[in-house]
Amino acid sequence: MRAVNTAECHYFSSKEADNEFLEKLLGGVNKRFFKNSIKAIAIWEVPKGTVSLSVGEPGPTLTPGHKLYTVFEAAKRNIQSGRLEQAIPQLETCAAANHADSKLLLSHLLKRRGDERWQEFAREYNRQCATVRAVPAACYYPDSSTIAIHPHLQELNTPQFVIKYLLYHECCHQLVHNPDDIPHPPEFMEWEHKAPNRDRALAWLEKQGFPTLRTTHAP
Ligand SMILES: [Zn+2]
Repeated sequence: MRAVNTAECHYFSSKEADNEFLEKLLGGVNKRFFKNSIKAIAIWEVPKGTVSLSVGEPGPTLTPGHKLYTVFEAAKRNIQSGRLEQAIPQLETCAAANHADSKLLLSHLLKRRGDERWQEFAREYNRQCATVRAVPAACYYPDSSTIAIHPHLQELNTPQFVIKYLLYHECCHQLVHNPDDIPHPPEFMEWEHKAPNRDRALAWLEKQGFPTLRTTHAP
């Protein structure tokens, strides 16, 4: 079990939660982790733009070692070889374990043979993979070197370690130039993984319903 730094357990009240307060936290993060190399300002502002947030239950990932891995692989081989009738019971087994891709494949195969149950699997797949557009907790505007932190965090008694994590993450965006279509390229993630209290902060944000890089899909 890890020790908890008591300083991080201090919650801030809304009267402290002004831009000056954010600037102070940013200054600390910048000094401690980036040797003061970040030139940015931090403000309370609703981040512009939205991200796609998964709202369904993802279900299991069938990687080697999972007890259904070989079943799903066999089903895919059967489909590739045109043995669709043999693939169906295998996919049914995986779908019963809530595996999303199996439901999708099953809906296609059942539809093809005129089996009405295809709709049920299609519906389940769609529900499981449903996404909504959501406003992130923070974002970085490169044009003005500004980090925006969602003002709603002031109302939520957000622990300081969460705000510091967000500031750290957004600093990484200034540090690592990202190609337009990949918001978090590998070089970015190398830095991002070193964020202080990363897992705790992400868990807290996700519990509040904020999209995070663990729950969002690349567009
Ligand atoms: Zn980001």
